Amino acid sequence: MSVAAHRRVLPAAPARRGWCPGLSRPMPTGDGLLARVHPPLGILTLPQARAVAEGARRFGNGHLDLTARANLQIRGVSEATRAPLARLLEAAGLGDTRADGGPQRLTLTSPLAGHDPAETFDVPALARAIEAAGLAVPGLPAKTLVVVEGRPGAQMPDADACVFSRASGGFGIAVAAERGFHDLATCAEDEAPAATAAVLEAFARSGLRRMRDLSSDAFSTLADAVREELQARVPSPVRERDKVSDATSPESAPPSPHPSSAWERGHGGVTPDVAPFSPPAGIAPLAASQIVLTVDAPFGRCTADALDRLVDLAARLGAEEIRLSPARGFVLLLPAAPQVDPAALADDFIVAPDDPRRSVAACTGAPACASGSTPTLSDAASVAEAFRPFAVGGSAAHVSGCAKGCARPGPADLTLVGRDGLYGAVIGGAPGDEPAMHLPIEAVLERLGRAETIGLAAAFAPDRARTEIGRTRRPA
Ligand code: SF4
Repeated sequence: MSVAAHRRVLPAAPARRGWCPGLSRPMPTGDGLLARVHPPLGILTLPQARAVAEGARRFGNGHLDLTARANLQIRGVSEATRAPLARLLEAAGLGDTRADGGPQRLTLTSPLAGHDPAETFDVPALARAIEAAGLAVPGLPAKTLVVVEGRPGAQMPDADACVFSRASGGFGIAVAAERGFHDLATCAEDEAPAATAAVLEAFARSGLRRMRDLSSDAFSTLADAVREELQARVPSPVRERDKVSDATSPESAPPSPHPSSAWERGHGGVTPDVAPFSPPAGIAPLAASQIVLTVDAPFGRCTADALDRLVDLAARLGAEEIRLSPARGFVLLLPAAPQVDPAALADDFIVAPDDPRRSVAACTGAPACASGSTPTLSDAASVAEAFRPFAVGGSAAHVSGCAKGCARPGPADLTLVGRDGLYGAVIGGAPGDEPAMHLPIEAVLERLGRAETIGLAAAFAPDRARTEIGRTRRPA
C-alpha cells in the first residue's frame, strides 16, 4: 500500500499556526528576531561556518545558540536585517528546505556519523534518504524529529521516531511513547525510507504535534501504515526472521528507553552497551588515523567571534568541516594526531568532560527574553559551580527564565524556574511543575551548598523552608 493511500482512513490534520521554522520567518524574542539555521546532517563546511559567524555579526547581535537538535540560532536579527541575512546564508547553501511549515531538518544523527567504526550501515546516506522522503509528507509538524542511529545499543536522544541498527541485523523503526520508545517494525535498509515515510504520513494525518501524544488507537494506525507499506514490497529475509517485531503494540510491549534494548530483551535478554549519542568534551581517538576534538558551548551559547576562532583552528589542524552536537557543541574530526591543546579554546568553550556547566541547562532569560525576570545565564554559571558534586554523579539541573522551559522542557534533578525575580525550586520535575518554594539566587546557592551533605530533596524541602523561616525570626 502506498503512503498516500493512508489518507483514506485517517482524519484530516487541523491547520497549524504560530510556529516560525527557519530563515524566511524568524521568531520574535526579547533581543530581536531569532533566525534558525538547519545545516544538512548537522555539518558545516568551513566556509559555511564562516558565513554563519559573519551573518550573526553583521545582521544579528553577534550571539548564537546551539540547539539540542544540532541546529543553530542567530540572535538579535531585525526586520531590516532578516532579508540580507537570509540571502547570505542561502548563498552559503544554508537556506530553508521547505516553505510549508514542515521541519527544515527532519533527521538527527550522531556527530560522528559516517566515521564511527561501531556503525553497521551508512548512516548519512540513510538520513539523506529519509530527509528526501520526509519532504514529500505534507502537514508534518515543524519540530518532527527522526533519529538515525547506526550503532547497536547506542544511547538514543529524545525524538519522535528513530531508525536504528538492530544488534541481530536489520533496521528497527520505533516511535516515541510517553516514556521511551515503542518498537514498531523491522525492515531492510532499502525499505527504511519508505517505511519511515509511512509512519510520518500517518502521524501528520493525526493532527498531533508530538508522537508521544498518540493514543493507543492512533499508534495502531501507525503500525498498520508501516506494516502495509512493507507488505506491499518484496518479502525481506530480515523481516521474515523478525516477524514478531511487526506485531508489537503499546499493549503487547512496554515502552523502553532504548528501542533496540526492548527488542533485544524480548529476544534473549541481551543488555545493551550504552554508548553516548554525542562525544563528550575533550579529545578522543576515533580510528587509527583520526581523532575527535569536541567543545561544548556553555549553556548552548557562543559568539560569532568564538565560532570564527574555532574555524581558524579547524583550518589549521586540517579539519574539513565542523559538526554540530546535540550536546550543544562542535565536533572536529581531525585527520591525524596533531598537537592540539583544547585549553586554547577554554575562554570560549567547555573543553573538559567534567566541567559542571555540561550538567546545567539554561535559557536566555532576562534581559534578552521579555518573558524572563532573572539573569539565567549568569545565575546558571553560579549554580553550575555549586552543583559540581551532583554533576559528578550524573545529575542534571536546569535554570529556566520562566515556566516555558525553552532550554529543557523535560524534568531535571533540580529545576529552577524564574518568576518575579525569584526562582521556584522543583526537585525531579519539569519547568511547568509546581515549585516547592520560591527563593532568591543567593538562597538557592546556599541550599545547594548544604545539599552536598543532606541531599537535594532535603535541602529544598518545603518543611525545611518553614522551619528556617521560624528559626531566623526574632523572638517576641
Ligand atoms: S524559558 Fe521563558 S525566559 Fe527562558 S527563553 Fe524561554 S520564554 Fe524566555
